[in-house]
Amino acid sequence: MLEEFFDFSPRLLELDKQAMELCRPYFEKVDAIRDYNQVKMLKAFTDQKVAATHLVGTTGYGYDDAGRDKLDALFAQVVGAEDALCRPHFLSGTHALAVALFGVLRAGDTLLAATGRPYDTLEGIIGIGDADKGCGTLAEFGVKYDEVPLLEGGVPDYEAIAKKAANAKVCHVQRSRGYSSRAAFDLETIGKVVQAAKSANPDVIVLVDNCYGTFTQTAEPVSVGADLIVGSLIKNAGGGIAPTGGYIAGRADLVEQCGHRLTAPGTGRELGCTLDSLRSLYLGLYYAPGVTAEAVKTSIYSSCLLELLGKNPIPRYTEPRNDIITSFEAGTGEALVGFCQGVQAGSPVDSYVAPEPYAMAGYTDQVIMAAGAFTLGSSIELSCDGPMRAPYTVYLQGGLNLAASRAGVLLAVQRAFGREL
Ligand SMILES: *Cc1c(COP(=O)(O)O)cnc(C)c1O
Repeated sequence: MLEEFFDFSPRLLELDKQAMELCRPYFEKVDAIRDYNQVKMLKAFTDQKVAATHLVGTTGYGYDDAGRDKLDALFAQVVGAEDALCRPHFLSGTHALAVALFGVLRAGDTLLAATGRPYDTLEGIIGIGDADKGCGTLAEFGVKYDEVPLLEGGVPDYEAIAKKAANAKVCHVQRSRGYSSRAAFDLETIGKVVQAAKSANPDVIVLVDNCYGTFTQTAEPVSVGADLIVGSLIKNAGGGIAPTGGYIAGRADLVEQCGHRLTAPGTGRELGCTLDSLRSLYLGLYYAPGVTAEAVKTSIYSSCLLELLGKNPIPRYTEPRNDIITSFEAGTGEALVGFCQGVQAGSPVDSYVAPEPYAMAGYTDQVIMAAGAFTLGSSIELSCDGPMRAPYTVYLQGGLNLAASRAGVLLAVQRAFGREL
């Protein structure tokens, strides 16, 4: 079927067939998670009595925006939280994380990163690493920072977490691997971090960065004791349909505090008009379990194909998935660029342009990115990137549907490794 539309080598088509066969039992597990989450989603829509009038937004201050408030309640039910803010007013995952951290931390408090150095963009929020001076980081507001590095093999250091949590106000946990080579944490591991932190300090607020992890399993980290979870709507939770937005969900008193930081202290969550965004946010959320499953399947398929090519991807196709990322070492700059150009060529938007490496603010080496997406910067859509330095690691994520993403990944492999095939 594939060869009817794209010009793949016979050897590559053979590997594709083999990969699809090997992945079948793992795809079935993903389907079961998808079906569970989809019915849970439907039940929440019915319990919350979502109505046609909720799909229409407001203007101006957005007082009495029933659709906005209903979406908050709907999202809270779906992730098993007391309360939530699920809104177009979050500009990105980073912004939602900043709102959550500034929302609950005060001068003199300590933020403890329990699973090693957080995702790159959090350095600017916290005021560590290459953070710009004078932009109002947590450090400038008198919030202290401490960190527990991961142990060998990417395992949390529970003992050290317990020790340091005693003095911490917030304990930060990152579920997805980000740009590291560890596996994403499963809920059991996150639960053990929660136990370690709370056994030393029952009042500590455990905040889980749930970006890329949302809906990859049948429950979310609040089910294992997290007090707050935070994510982006242009990743898993927006189903590829939400054009912008993010979420914070968890304990009601903490979500309330975050509302005051999102708008203005004293104003809180009562404000924020939604314009024409609500229908897309509801529809995207409704589709999110299915779309996340397609992205997870794309990740499993890619890992399998790359393993057949001898590229040692992380994670292996046989391993459980708690995020949607696959990475591997392309080996040469040429292969990295070729892979990204292939992904771009297999994208529904801007397929005819060829990405090139460029110098991006905040990065030491040049980076290359492929993103032929309907939503700018969306990484629930098939996308990949990597820094131009040895060993030329490629981070591949997303895929709105496996059929098309499979073709995109094959185009990428052919461009990068065609000569080896
Ligand atoms: C994507 C991501 C972020 C930041 O989200 P943006 O929407 O890119 O700002 C933070 N943490 C993790 C783990 C992520 O994957």
